[in-house]
Amino acid sequence: MSWRVSITRRWYAMGKSKVKAYIHTLYEVDWSNKTVKLKTKKCPRCGSIMAHHKKPVERYQCGYCGYTEFVVGK
Ligand SMILES: [Zn+2]
Repeated sequence: MSWRVSITRRWYAMGKSKVKAYIHTLYEVDWSNKTVKLKTKKCPRCGSIMAHHKKPVERYQCGYCGYTEFVVGK
């Protein structure tokens, strides 16, 4: 399953009203440069978008396959 397909399925599950809020959690818009940065990472194992958690330790976690990447040296 590609990450595009999986994210679309997630949007349908959440309903249209929540999609915008969800996009804001994924992307960071820099209005001065007019660029859009993807805030989250993609899972190296299955290609899904990974969730960013700050507690108890900062990490990125894939909700599909469970892959976790810890943020170190910050
Ligand atoms: Zn994964």
